[in-house]
Amino acid sequence: MSSLAAFGSKTVARGVGRFTDLVLEKGSGAYITTDTGRQMMDFTSGIGVTNLGHCHPKVTKAAQDQCATIVHAQVNIGFNKPQLELMQKLQPLMPHKSLDTFFFWNSGAEAVEASIKLARQATGKQNIIVVQGSYHGRTFGTMAMTKSKTVYGEGFGPLMPGVFTTPYPYWHQVGVPASTSQDELVKQALYQLDLLLKQQTAPRDTAALIIEPVLGEGGYIPAPKGYLEGLRKICDDNGILLIIDEVQTGFGRTGKYFAIEHYPTVRPDIMVIAKGIANGFPLSGIVSRKELMDLQKPGSMGGTYAGNAVSCAAAVAVQEVFEEEKILDNVAARGEELFGLLHELKADKEIGNTIAEVRGLGLMVGIEFNSPTDPYTPSASGAKIPANMASRVQNKCLEQDMLTLTTSVYQCIRFIPPLNITAEEMKKGCDIIRKAITDVVR
Ligand code: PMP
Repeated sequence: MSSLAAFGSKTVARGVGRFTDLVLEKGSGAYITTDTGRQMMDFTSGIGVTNLGHCHPKVTKAAQDQCATIVHAQVNIGFNKPQLELMQKLQPLMPHKSLDTFFFWNSGAEAVEASIKLARQATGKQNIIVVQGSYHGRTFGTMAMTKSKTVYGEGFGPLMPGVFTTPYPYWHQVGVPASTSQDELVKQALYQLDLLLKQQTAPRDTAALIIEPVLGEGGYIPAPKGYLEGLRKICDDNGILLIIDEVQTGFGRTGKYFAIEHYPTVRPDIMVIAKGIANGFPLSGIVSRKELMDLQKPGSMGGTYAGNAVSCAAAVAVQEVFEEEKILDNVAARGEELFGLLHELKADKEIGNTIAEVRGLGLMVGIEFNSPTDPYTPSASGAKIPANMASRVQNKCLEQDMLTLTTSVYQCIRFIPPLNITAEEMKKGCDIIRKAITDVVR
C-alpha cells in the first residue's frame, strides 16, 4: 500500500465500502493507473459511469472550455446554456415522444427522489411500490426504496414511510428452482402485485411504481418482457405512474440508448437518468411529460448545483461522441464477444458446473455462480462448488490487473467495460476473466 493509500485507509469514513486500497490517479480509455504506476484494466467504468472510457478527449475539452466560460450558471437564477443545449440533444433520443420536459440534479439518488416528488405532486397520492432486489440510492428517501441489500438501510431508520415491495420474477428471489419457466415467474410476480394493491396499498393511495429495466445492484437481472408489459398495464388500470430508473442502464450500457427501448410497448411516465450521461461529471435528472411537470409549483424543485454547467457541457459532448463514434454498434460487437466467452465457460464440462447463470444486455454483463450453501442454485450433479466464487474470481482478476465488481447478495460478478472498448482490449479482458475463473475452479 502506498503511503498516501495508508493515510486514506485511516482517514476516509469507514462507511464507504472499498474493494481495494489502490489510489486511482490517472485514467485513459479502458485503463486506470495508480499512484504507484500500476496499470489496471477497468471493467467497472466507475459503476457504469465512464461509458466512453476515462478522460475521453472530446468530453474533457468540452468541460475545460466550459470551465473557462462559466462554471456556475445557477438554475434558480436564470437559464444555463449548456443545460438548454443538452435538452435539445436529449429530446430526440427519448424512448417516447411524451418524455419532453426535464429537471436536472447531481446524483442518481437525488434524481430518484425528484421522480418521487413529481409523482406525489402530480397524483396527489403518497405510496410508492418498489421491486425486491432494487437499488435506488443512499439518501433518506432512496434508502427506503432500496431492497437489494440490508446494509444500505440497516440502523438508519426510521426511513421514509409509504414504500411497499413487490416480488421480482427471478427464480432465486422467489425461492423456486432455476428451471421454473419465465412465464410462470412473471405470472406469479404480477399476481403478487395485484394482491399487494388489494391487501396493502390501495390504488387510490399509490402514486407510482419504480423499477430498473435491468436490476443493477440486485444482480444484473434483465426484467422479463412480459413483466414490464404487465406492470405497465396494472399501472394504467389503477392510475399509478410508472417510473423507469435508467441510472445504471441508460446511455448505451445495454446496447440501446435506454434499456427501456428493449421493451418498445412500455412507456415510462417518468424516467430517471444519471451516471453515463456526463461520463463522470456529476449530473442526473428526470424526464417526464410536460402536463405532469406543469403540476409542480415553481420553487418546489431546484438545488444549488442542479444541472451544473460544466457537467451539462460534458454531457452534450457525450451525446455527440455516441453518434460520431457509432458507440452502439461497438456495444453490440463487444457484447457478443464477452457473452461468447461466458457462454463458452458455462458449457465447459469442468467450469460450467459452477455457473448458475450468464445474463445481462449489451455490455451490462453478469455471472451468477452456484453457491454450495444455497438450496435454489441449480444442481451441479455432485461437482465440487467453491464457496464465495464471486469475490474469489474478482480477486483473481485483480491479481491480473483488472478491476471488476460483484453485485447482489448472490454469488454474482459483473463486467461493465467502457462502451468504446476495442476488440483487442476485449480479447485481453476475456483472457483475464477466463484465467480467473479457471484458477478458482481448479
Ligand atoms: N439507481 C440505480 C439503478 C443505481 O444503480 C444507482 C447507483 N448505483 C442509483 C440509483 C443511485 O445513484 P447515485 O449513486 O448517483 O446516487
